[in-house]
Amino acid sequence: AARNGEDGVRGYAPAMGQIFLRRFQLVTQFRQAVDSGQIEVHYQPKVSLPHRQVVGAEALVRWSHPEYGRLDPDEFVPLVEATGLVDALTSFVMECALTKVRQWLDRGLRMSVAVNLSVRNLNDESFPDRVGEALLRHDIPPELLTFELTESSVMDDPDRSLPVLRRLHAMGVVLAVDDFGTGYSSLAYLRQLPVDEVKIDKSFVLGMGTDLGDMAVVRSIVELGHSLDLAVVAEGVEDDAARDQLVEMGCDVAQGYLISRPLSEERLETWLRARTRR
Ligand code: C2E
Ligand code: CA
Ligand code: CA
Ligand code: CA
Repeated sequence: AARNGEDGVRGYAPAMGQIFLRRFQLVTQFRQAVDSGQIEVHYQPKVSLPHRQVVGAEALVRWSHPEYGRLDPDEFVPLVEATGLVDALTSFVMECALTKVRQWLDRGLRMSVAVNLSVRNLNDESFPDRVGEALLRHDIPPELLTFELTESSVMDDPDRSLPVLRRLHAMGVVLAVDDFGTGYSSLAYLRQLPVDEVKIDKSFVLGMGTDLGDMAVVRSIVELGHSLDLAVVAEGVEDDAARDQLVEMGCDVAQGYLISRPLSEERLETWLRARTRR
């Protein structure tokens, strides 16, 4: 959604100096942006297949910047990840997400929330304690919290990330490998990881309708996941044809524009109400 014509500036490539200035500003302004409410968490629902029950939602961060308008995470998350600020980002998103799960539980809704982790969280040996503390404080069963991690973030420094993952897993938190299929690492490695879920990268799901290769990749990830006793989630489900294919393949959970775009908290609640009335 364009606001104040901000989309208009994407038509030309700004000079390098402007790009660096903007990046510098985003990094230096991030902390204050969190404290002043410019950073918001949106939620994208996930539904079970084939019955389309809402099983949870993925927390996706958004930045309403006073000068640049609505920023996508693809622009600022990598910048934030390159600094110590990512701890503040993850804590903020986790706090919002657990508050949400608590509200749902209080209304009798048992839905889980998924939070994206960065390599820095996985290499931080104090991270599991902070997660445990947050779960206790919000009185939330650990299985209602999922962490999504990419293969490359795990493989960055496995000697450090594996103990962190094992502790999170032992606590009962659900671990999912995000963007599955795009990594370089071997499928054999998946067996060594303490994970519960694989999330097929949206590039394959989006390509399924037109590319038999993508279709074959999706099918084999579903089969591989199930043979390792993992739940399989597909993201990027945009149309009925993709959904029907995934049902036929036996995929467990779907997420994508067909079901819903990521929604602000308020719009999510409206969406959920409309859905449960049906
Ligand atoms: P991701 O974890 O792979 O998230 C899925 C992205 O796909 C989201 O983009 C979502 O809006 C988009 N998407 C969902 N359904 C569809 C669909 O049907 N079609 C298409 N074409 N796209 C779909 P978004 O929100 O822009 O997030 C981009 C990335 O930013 C995320 O990719 C994730 O890597 C990162 N990110 C977002 N929030 C956080 C966060 O709180 N912490 C960290 N560390 N990373 C985050
Ligand atoms: Ca994700
Ligand atoms: Ca993904
Ligand atoms: Ca991604």
